[in-house]
Amino acid sequence: MTPKELSEDDKKIFHAIDKNDVILLRAALVDKRNVNILNENLITPLQHASYRGNKEMVQILLDQGADPNLCEHAYGYTALHFAGLSGNVDVCNLLLLAGAKSSAVNTLGRTAAQMAAFVGNHNCVTTINNYVQKKDVEYYTVVQGQQTKPYLQPFLSESFHKFIMTINVHPVRIALNLQSIVGLIEHLDEIRNVLELMCRKEMKGKEMNEVMSLKFHYLGYIVEAISKIRKNKKDDDDKKSDVFELFTRKLLKPNKDGNLDFMDNFLKECIREFPFRECTLFKQMVASLTGNDPPSALSVITAAINGQRGFMDHISVCNTCGEEKPGKKCSKCKVVQYCDRNCQRLHWFVHKKACTRLSQSSSDQSEPQETKVDPSDLNAEIENLLVSN
Ligand SMILES: [Zn+2]
Ligand SMILES: [Zn+2]
Repeated sequence: MTPKELSEDDKKIFHAIDKNDVILLRAALVDKRNVNILNENLITPLQHASYRGNKEMVQILLDQGADPNLCEHAYGYTALHFAGLSGNVDVCNLLLLAGAKSSAVNTLGRTAAQMAAFVGNHNCVTTINNYVQKKDVEYYTVVQGQQTKPYLQPFLSESFHKFIMTINVHPVRIALNLQSIVGLIEHLDEIRNVLELMCRKEMKGKEMNEVMSLKFHYLGYIVEAISKIRKNKKDDDDKKSDVFELFTRKLLKPNKDGNLDFMDNFLKECIREFPFRECTLFKQMVASLTGNDPPSALSVITAAINGQRGFMDHISVCNTCGEEKPGKKCSKCKVVQYCDRNCQRLHWFVHKKACTRLSQSSSDQSEPQETKVDPSDLNAEIENLLVSN
């Protein structure tokens, strides 16, 4: 197919993307203009904006009806291939949500995730590989056979979909997601059940996916643990948030040697309960946990789900939930980093002693004092202890 001669108006669309100018692009797209067009290189505006890694432009073009799978490019690069090359995770997500097929290959036989890996855009690889099609979730919201109600109530579909696509698999982050995504906390047993079904479904049929099967098992295991804490607390008058606080405190509490024994054992038990013990992934995890100087169970699970990263050790993470490149740090010691005040609050019971020590080792004046914190004053106390990086 050869491109039709572009009109002056169509040229303006490509020109705006070339200039990375959102305002120009909006101006070029008046009158519901058709954006499924090709330039002289057989590239659509969406492919072009994806290559630029411009999230806003990609959203504008998708809103205007751009087809994420339209591809006439000589080397078969789809918009998702270009997004993977750009390194912009948000652009990958927008395209996937719009229905971009992650299985499409270019003329080298490579998928978008493989091309992203090739240029070292690891976050794009995990975003694409962790993506679950909405229809795979919606399947559980429909009444099947003899059922009187579906496994998952339809209104939970979107929240659940968001929950299972988390890339950060730190158990505290998963708990925080359960707490913050609308509607999930009231339906833990339903969610647990659907995750179990999805875990088994990934191991059926021709296209077995051990990684996603493990991920669904893992998420289900954490949901179950939180659900148990919640049931035991039901008769108390405490707030809902206390369930998550109890859970995260258990996980983050170090032993005498400063190791996170509880978290490690909790996660090892999760691996042990994975129902598909014959699969390669399970055997690999067991091998690394039983070898000499074994890594933590969390790093084994992270590597199993998100792949080996390599050369990424220098990246800073939140001390509470493991989120990469957190935006804040403790203003007193200026050493430990957090996503936000909530992450700092959850970690304060561990950090408060170290914080005093760390901040005094820098000023080195007064006698070390242990700060006594009344939990009800906690928010006030840390109110001024968080600054942006
Ligand atoms: Zn955090
Ligand atoms: Zn501190």
